[in-house]
Amino acid sequence: ATPTAVMVGTGVGASQGVLIKGGQALEIAHKVNCVVFDKTGILTEGKPVVVSTRLLRPMVLQDFYELVAAAEINSEHPLAKAIVENARKLKADEGKQTWEEARDFVAISGHGVKAIVKKKEIIVGNKDLMLNQKINIPSEAEEMLAEAESMAQTGILVSINGELAGVITISDALKPCAPEVISILKTMKVKSTMMTGDNKGTAYSIAKQVGIETVVAEAKPEQKAEKVKELLAKGYAVAMVGDGINDSPALVAADVGVAIGAGTDIAIEAADIVLMRSNLEDVITAIDL
Ligand code: ADP
Ligand code: MG
Repeated sequence: ATPTAVMVGTGVGASQGVLIKGGQALEIAHKVNCVVFDKTGILTEGKPVVVSTRLLRPMVLQDFYELVAAAEINSEHPLAKAIVENARKLKADEGKQTWEEARDFVAISGHGVKAIVKKKEIIVGNKDLMLNQKINIPSEAEEMLAEAESMAQTGILVSINGELAGVITISDALKPCAPEVISILKTMKVKSTMMTGDNKGTAYSIAKQVGIETVVAEAKPEQKAEKVKELLAKGYAVAMVGDGINDSPALVAADVGVAIGAGTDIAIEAADIVLMRSNLEDVITAIDL
């Protein structure tokens, strides 16, 4: 493209809320034939809500949530926010909205959290975390997890003093436009891939709903970048669409990193293109400019 074409493209992009950092990104965007989507916050709304809680021990639900919320209030994770929000609702009529002090809080990246609350050891997170912490997962809990995953929900396990105490299922709604965006990309002969730190079951259920066949689940941030590099090595011109801190290595690795305006500053910094309106449809606008 001539410098004029680049200028025009950038101008048009800006008028549609597609911010392009430099002419090179614009030129490569046009050649993209593979788009890698982060799941949470990109294909889904990124606003998870608790849909059910199943206790595995005789316990009052409010007491269970007191312990879990006291641990999760220290976490920045969207799933933690959903859990704390649910605890707040359960507590609403009590008028008291503070939590017990948690000691020895640790966030285990990509797995969950651990803390001491009211002298009890509370562990909240995925199956991997429970296995690492040597917590036995009864078959009843396994079944609950499988059921949640088949419905595209995330099952979070809670252990109290070394014993599994409950399963919390959390749902993050699909963005209504996501299936159409993927189908339009297909007609443009662009391959779509989904990447997520979430478990395989949930990941495949979401992918099926949006029409994506290639899925990388349980991916740590470095693995997201590795996968992008693999696609590049296969000869694809790759765009990565993400919003989180954990997406930034992959955004940098891709030919074109695309962040959404609603994303974290670190993702926006790492990206070549920013979709200011945070509309998923604008991924197509960016490639089409
Ligand atoms: P993603 O944001 O793509 O879901 P993460 O790597 O942040 O990926 O998390 C992976 C998984 O680890 C989550 O799906 C969840 O099961 C578990 N997890 C992480 N942080 C927490 C937390 N604070 N509370 C409960 N579970 C968590
Ligand atoms: Mg995300």
